[in-house]
Amino acid sequence: MDPFRGIVAAALATSALLACAAPAGALAAGSPGGVQAPSSGKAGGIEYGAPSAVPAGPVISSLSVPASALAGAPPKVTLRLDETGVATVRLRVSILNLATRHTSLLADMGWSRTGRTLTVRWPAGASLAPGSYQLRVSARDHRGVALVRRAHSSGRAALTVRAVPSPPPAPTPAPEAGVPTPAQSLADGAVFPVAGAHSFGNAENRFGAPRGSHVHEGQDVLAAEGTPVLAPLAGAIESTAYQAGGAGYYVVEHTTVGFDLFFAHCEAASFAVSSAQGVTAGQLLCHAGQTGDASAPHLHFEMWVGGWQAAGGHPIDPLPYLQAWDREGATG
Ligand SMILES: [Zn+2]
Repeated sequence: MDPFRGIVAAALATSALLACAAPAGALAAGSPGGVQAPSSGKAGGIEYGAPSAVPAGPVISSLSVPASALAGAPPKVTLRLDETGVATVRLRVSILNLATRHTSLLADMGWSRTGRTLTVRWPAGASLAPGSYQLRVSARDHRGVALVRRAHSSGRAALTVRAVPSPPPAPTPAPEAGVPTPAQSLADGAVFPVAGAHSFGNAENRFGAPRGSHVHEGQDVLAAEGTPVLAPLAGAIESTAYQAGGAGYYVVEHTTVGFDLFFAHCEAASFAVSSAQGVTAGQLLCHAGQTGDASAPHLHFEMWVGGWQAAGGHPIDPLPYLQAWDREGATG
């Protein structure tokens, strides 16, 4: 139940411009001598004993809610409240599930500034399931005057939450033109790049996982510090280098079949190859570590078509390849 609703209804019935500042109880009780709601829409003006300068109440100047969003974290919602001469209003934003009529999310924004665009802060970890919702803004000022809902700024907005599309079935990616499939590369003698016990982690270790402003462009292979990292395919070393705060010690290989391969977070001082050197499949490149931006030892592995970090080049999901090579059982 919206505790502000009663007072809002009374205010709107009185006049679009005048709102009654009496507490909700007085309105509900209708006791003799109390403030009465007018009996018809024509009754305007000021009610018994009301001050001549009645505050109009906060109004919504803008409300930005996407019409639809994907299931998961709630969408970004911005709004602006205004009330003449009032610096802060008590603000709450809720999301009502229209099927269950239950409140799915509530953001209590406390006393919030008027006259500026605010971004709704949803509770940490909040998420929405697919469904139909209504977003509702509630506000009142220090006098207890509630949000004035108008036809074009009611503080309510519809929100449809759609299911996240299921990913294409792995491990049968559409092969790129001129790029060998996982099975073909395996037939050509590809080997798994981590020579020891390993795992592919979870969703955050996958290709395409969100990383703040960008996405994860490779697949992580979790393994113990010092586990040998091998060249999966024959080729030539393009570079070995160090990137603090990022890839750490890394190796780039240009393979003979067209891929570029990128191996990151090698252990310090573990390079077994150097720039321009030819390598065979299975040749030692470095040892797994956690240099650069890594919180646990792992190989961060990328596959690029058209050149690593090159104009026109792009990374592809390495997991189907890693799984194909892993199934051979030569390692791990
Ligand atoms: Zn990674």
